[in-house]
Amino acid sequence: MLNQGIGSWPARRARKTPDRIAIVHEDDEITYRALYQRVLRLAHALRALGVARGDRIAYLGPNHPAFLETLFAAGTLGAVFVPLNSRLAAVELAYNLNDSGSTVLVHSAEHTETATAAASGTGVRHRITLGPAGPGAAGYDDLLAGAVSDPLDEAVAPDDPCMIMYTSGTTGRPKGAVLTHANITWNSVNVLIDSDFAGDEVTLVVAPLFHTAALNMTCLPTLLKGGRVVLLGAFDAERVLDVIERRRVTYMFGVPTMYDALSARPRWPTADLSSLRTLTCGGAPVPARTIDTYLARGLAFSQGYGMTEASPGILFLDREQTSAKAGSAGVPHFFTDTRVVLPDGRDAGPGERGEILVSGPNVMTGYWHRPDDTRAAVTDDGWLRTGDVARTDEDGYAYIVDRVKDMFVSGGENVYPAEVEAALLTHPAVRECAVIGVPHEVWGEVGHAVLVLEPGARADAEEILAHARTLLAKYKIPQTVTFADSLPRTASGKIVKAAVRASYAHP
Ligand code: ATP
Ligand code: MG
Repeated sequence: MLNQGIGSWPARRARKTPDRIAIVHEDDEITYRALYQRVLRLAHALRALGVARGDRIAYLGPNHPAFLETLFAAGTLGAVFVPLNSRLAAVELAYNLNDSGSTVLVHSAEHTETATAAASGTGVRHRITLGPAGPGAAGYDDLLAGAVSDPLDEAVAPDDPCMIMYTSGTTGRPKGAVLTHANITWNSVNVLIDSDFAGDEVTLVVAPLFHTAALNMTCLPTLLKGGRVVLLGAFDAERVLDVIERRRVTYMFGVPTMYDALSARPRWPTADLSSLRTLTCGGAPVPARTIDTYLARGLAFSQGYGMTEASPGILFLDREQTSAKAGSAGVPHFFTDTRVVLPDGRDAGPGERGEILVSGPNVMTGYWHRPDDTRAAVTDDGWLRTGDVARTDEDGYAYIVDRVKDMFVSGGENVYPAEVEAALLTHPAVRECAVIGVPHEVWGEVGHAVLVLEPGARADAEEILAHARTLLAKYKIPQTVTFADSLPRTASGKIVKAAVRASYAHP
């Protein structure tokens, strides 16, 4: 095969395991043979629309087989796939379409209005809707039905770009990470090795596919191995429990807020979870009580740390270590390496806090059309600065401390809000919290905590701070507190600190 990229995966799987089910979506089951045929039809249809090697094809919509088919069809032609965040507003999407220079936009029927508004004035020449064809948009099913499924073997090299994936935009405007076929493949290989994926894996995908963790840590490794991917549209805790039982799910990835929502369901204690082999969690700090809840059910619970720019897996804590190394994000994935570097450039020793750097075949070579950001992020010898602070223990296990950007200095001491938040979260009345640094005459900055209480819980600020004082040094204790109904979060559930600062920096 001339195609060495992930566009060839359906063909390779159809050669090996044509009758296995690749994708389950609602009542539809798509075998690897059918997936390959559908991808070929779509690739022919896209080519007929003028799509050529290097062109960008964007997708906007919920988790759906068409997402994966568009990714593989783009890869079949050597074109570049651009997954869009389906919760963004039309102006934000227009920014992504312009930034990536996408010429084709595949979107769901419910996104027609947003897609039309977002695409107008950009370089998008063709819209393809998953619903019936409409004004200015071709129908996805019509295109497939009208296209041939003759084999296509376009030469695609491992180092050709495969996708432009936007970062979550937690700390600023999302940046387009250019991920090559090799980056994506090596990340999948790392996951297969470290998560012990099997060919009979039934993987539940509940996080949005446009988010790197759902696509690259969950979906693609399963399809590489020939397992079965169960796609769910939006996250709904009750439905997730149903699907785990009905589809006998073996593997699932979720962000911490999802796991908390599942265990909060009234029927959680009696739900049949006997099919589950591995649960993984990451994308944000995982509260200790979340891990305890799942371990108490006898479920293996692994944690990971990663970022879009690393395709995304960086650190992984094997399930055997979940208890022994509680709170750690683990050691680097098999083919990936990390360093923790002090501000003066020296490598940190055990216990010392510094920025974590990563290198490996899964790490991007740069951001799309942002040479300055790329130079700032990637060192001359190929290490990517993550922007996160970490420390390692004597055994080399890493603990993510916080983002460099969120640290503040109080009386000359560095305070990492994530550490303070973790302590506050151990108070039973505290459901969610965010800590930021606010200006202070004497100390330069001091902490301010924004707290969301458990429904019906009653606790005053002094009681919660008194609890924190039993766990943390004095300079880390927030001086002021506000109570809120909710915190601003990204589509992937992360707290947007900039928005918290904008609302609460002057309490
Ligand atoms: P942006 O780069 O646009 O500000 P983002 O960094 O949130 O957004 P992602 O690439 O989705 O975008 O997320 C990667 C970041 O998520 C990491 O740099 C880290 O700060 C955080 N993160 C991921 N996993 C963990 C974890 N296990 N523990 C703590 N933080 C984590
Ligand atoms: Mg980032």
